[in-house]
Amino acid sequence: MTDTSKTNLLGMTPVQLADYFKEIGEKPFRATQVLKWIHQQGAESFDEMTNISKSLREKLNTQAELRGPEVVSQDTSRDGTRKWVIRVDGGSCVETVLIPEGDRGTLCVSSQVGCSLNCSFCSTGKQGFNRNLSAAEIIGQVRIAIKSFGPMDPANKRVVTNVVMMGMGEPLMNFERVVSAMNLMMEDNAYGLSKRRVTLSTAGVVPAIDKLGEVTDVSLAVSLHAPNDELRDILVPVNKKYPIEELIAACNRYLEKLNDKRVITIEYTMMEGVNDLPEHAKQLAKLLKRVPCKLNIIPFNPFPNSGYKRPKAAAIELFKNTMHKAGIRTTVRRTRGDEIDAACGQLVGMVDDRTKRTSQLIPVVQQATPADTQSRH
Ligand code: SAH
Repeated sequence: MTDTSKTNLLGMTPVQLADYFKEIGEKPFRATQVLKWIHQQGAESFDEMTNISKSLREKLNTQAELRGPEVVSQDTSRDGTRKWVIRVDGGSCVETVLIPEGDRGTLCVSSQVGCSLNCSFCSTGKQGFNRNLSAAEIIGQVRIAIKSFGPMDPANKRVVTNVVMMGMGEPLMNFERVVSAMNLMMEDNAYGLSKRRVTLSTAGVVPAIDKLGEVTDVSLAVSLHAPNDELRDILVPVNKKYPIEELIAACNRYLEKLNDKRVITIEYTMMEGVNDLPEHAKQLAKLLKRVPCKLNIIPFNPFPNSGYKRPKAAAIELFKNTMHKAGIRTTVRRTRGDEIDAACGQLVGMVDDRTKRTSQLIPVVQQATPADTQSRH
């Protein structure tokens, strides 16, 4: 049972934890100890924290808690991709996906229940927006993924070498909590990932990109999907507010602040007859000359009633070659985990849509545990 009168320490950054210990009259160095217990040992309770005095553990038991999201189901695809359906406070579910590749494991983490940006080709967007995840619910996804492989020792921690904020939601619309969680991902006393291995992906919330550059130096991916405003206004409606010109400028400002050799990853979900034509490739090549970047083409992943189709392999190849010839580093994302609905844009979880924009789409958990779908309607 959850006790909301207790302070949840799970999503706290080192600074927040140190403040908390000061507040309860304890030494701030306790923060480091507790941080390690939570994120390096995977402790579920204060009683496990054996280098902390019994009296402090008792105090923490009465005043604090370690409350994270819960796993509803876990699926593994034939290609090794794992997907978790995770229930967050209030009953809604989000999804987290781990994509192993060689000695790398990339964890795709959700930041919101649903999404408010309504991109026309994204199943998460079709569900409308429910709420922002807390920092505990975001970092909790990383903890769940690692712990699913066994004890949280250094060997098992290596199953997650990279994190991409590319799950459900628009991370920049949940700014503070996403930044706190990413800080924990990069914190030496927590997950210790390098800033190059933590990537935030955005549909292009321009003022928030600038704000991000002031508080962190994670890698940045931008979901472009169209080489001109006319088309992008339709595919990514937030473009009407922050058009391509402003987005490219914000990307350049972000890179300037990073002050290293990193580039922006431009994501381009490709849909047949929509944005995959030779003229689009030409326009895109011209546009991308203006920002240091690499291009990642994501062949559209279908979902029921999407109205879009994945282009033929030949069209994707032709597009890629045009980009290569223009000197733009281009990769095509291999579709992973699609038989468990874990591919990009197939994440739906279960959203209690306050906007009632559409009814639930592909409620993944419905088949698994019918009782879990009884949310607050
Ligand atoms: N809101 C952020 C984070 C989501 S990332 C963003 O837009 O970047 C998920 C990526 O998958 C985005 O690039 C998104 O546009 C893309 N995507 C969404 N639906 C898709 C689909 N059906 N097929 C392929 N890619 C999709």
